[in-house]
Amino acid sequence: MELTPTELKRLDDQTLLITWSDGQRKRYAVSDLRKACPCVMCRNERKAAEHAPQQLTILAPTELAPLKIDRMALAGNYAYRITFSDGHNTGLFTFEHLRQLGEVVE
Ligand SMILES: [Zn+2]
Repeated sequence: MELTPTELKRLDDQTLLITWSDGQRKRYAVSDLRKACPCVMCRNERKAAEHAPQQLTILAPTELAPLKIDRMALAGNYAYRITFSDGHNTGLFTFEHLRQLGEVVE
């Protein structure tokens, strides 16, 4: 059986809590979700960073502000499209991917 989120809860501005259909609860830092964004642009950025680890990234002011989730919309019953407060919303987080991220809450 495929696991699906049964409840999404904002613990605070920077933390999301997902309850899964098997009862497991996981906590997600918004900044970690943003870093794990699966869209092509972010994947390429991460790949470039791996090849040039010494290079300093210049952060835009929006990247320095604490990141929040503006919106989470269900996409085709298998994923969430997350709109982050920096305006980024091209990543589709599949349930499978989300389940791998985050920290289990006891
Ligand atoms: Zn992305």
